[in-house]
Amino acid sequence: MNASAAIGVTGLGVMGRNLARNFARNGYTVAVHNRGEARTRALIDAFGHEGDFVAARTAEELVAALERPRKLLLMVQAGPATDAVIEEFAALLEPGDMIIDGGNAHFADTRRREAALRDLGLHFVGVGVSGGEEGALHGPSVMPGGSAESYAVLGPMFEAISAKVDGEPCAAHIGADGAGHFVKMVHNGIEYADMQLIAEAYDLLRQVAGHTPAEIAEVFRRWNEGRLGSYLVEITAEVLDHTDHATGEPFVDVVADAAGQKGTGRWTVQTALDLGSPVTAIAQATFARAASGQAELRSACAGLPGGVTPALSRTEAARFASRVEHALYASKVIAYDQGWKMIRDAAAEYGWKIDLAEVARIWRGGCIIRASFLDRIRAAHTADPDLVSLLAEPGFAAEIGDAQVPWREVVASAARRGVPVPAFSAALAHYDTLRAGRLPAALLQGQRDYFGAHGYRRTDRPGDFHTHWATPDRVETEA
Ligand code: NAP
Repeated sequence: MNASAAIGVTGLGVMGRNLARNFARNGYTVAVHNRGEARTRALIDAFGHEGDFVAARTAEELVAALERPRKLLLMVQAGPATDAVIEEFAALLEPGDMIIDGGNAHFADTRRREAALRDLGLHFVGVGVSGGEEGALHGPSVMPGGSAESYAVLGPMFEAISAKVDGEPCAAHIGADGAGHFVKMVHNGIEYADMQLIAEAYDLLRQVAGHTPAEIAEVFRRWNEGRLGSYLVEITAEVLDHTDHATGEPFVDVVADAAGQKGTGRWTVQTALDLGSPVTAIAQATFARAASGQAELRSACAGLPGGVTPALSRTEAARFASRVEHALYASKVIAYDQGWKMIRDAAAEYGWKIDLAEVARIWRGGCIIRASFLDRIRAAHTADPDLVSLLAEPGFAAEIGDAQVPWREVVASAARRGVPVPAFSAALAHYDTLRAGRLPAALLQGQRDYFGAHGYRRTDRPGDFHTHWATPDRVETEA
């Protein structure tokens, strides 16, 4: 077999097939392989005319078809399947070759695999790919980790297949080893928070303001024209406007209210706990999905007393929608900012040099959280690469300041009327935590010192101190 292919793809499921087609459509010769030959044949039969494909029946044929250094993209299930496929191909590759994992691997697995393959002289490049089936074909957001050396070779290819916004590719080298998969994981965590916030906004407009799903679709359409403009707001309007064919009822009323998840939100929260990153909006969104699926618990508690729910007048309802817009925007800024802070924390922990402005830039297209305000997040992190929070940027600070009163009113209305808004509440509490001059953590330190002699620091002089709580005069000593 001629070594003529610029890249090989193994695993021709939904994502692998479409990424292979995307590379071919961009002029690359693509060698394609699947453990069962049927998928390979199906791809060539249906789409072979779209570009230059080389069909490989075996792993050996796939490797033989690749130009050097060989570039091999794995698009298989994360976990043991990925390890098995890596083991199979690593034995056939040579130093300098590159294995690219485009699956949704956990970043810790990517770090482990990168270290093991580096010892063999192979580059292992964990790549976050966002945008689902359509994105893979027409242009995803691509978040590659791995060595700078590997990006020098692979970068132009990733940029070619990625989504473009204002002529710029939605692909950039994120950082060493697992940085790409880490950032993709946080993307998905933010996606959970964004979706939950939108869902809470819908619930408030329905339960507090008394709007119908079709009316709420209109509200979301209007919001999509402004600062909330985003793919998720756009599709929300579409879903809310959809009428179920079988019953003629609003689609949203015939769907079971138990949300599924594949686990990347959970990974984000688990990792955030390890890093000590307070991603509270993401955590609440993840728990909200879990709670929605707790049928037994929900049924045991159904019918418990809730809030009072007097209907709003039409004028009040219109005013309420504008308040919800403020609350949604402010909460969204907090949720995204929490994600960025988590990336900063991980970069410090793992020694990654991550350009936070670039993260915003490559999420403007291709991925699920693409949103117009990412331009502003990018600008904020470009103007100050050490920016600790969007709340410290004058433009965002002014907007959040303007949102203050309506944001608090919306959360208060939800509490009064018994509408659950865990993500709105968490975002507002996070904001209040950050802006507070003093937190009750001082009291926690006192409690910890009382029962565990954990010590504390004082505000008026340096050093570590302990109060001898059991002594009658409670003497303080330096620890
Ligand atoms: P899929 O349609 O189920 O395809 C999985 C592919 O992996 C199939 O070609 C399958 O081969 C192959 N495979 C599974 N186990 C294998 C093994 N032990 N050895 C060799 N090949 C094996 O999955 P997908 O949706 O394309 O997803 C692929 C990866 O991309 C996953 O990690 C997923 O999380 C990630 N991802 C998916 C999306 C999305 O929207 N779907 C988005 C981003 C990332 P057979 O045909 O022989 O079973």
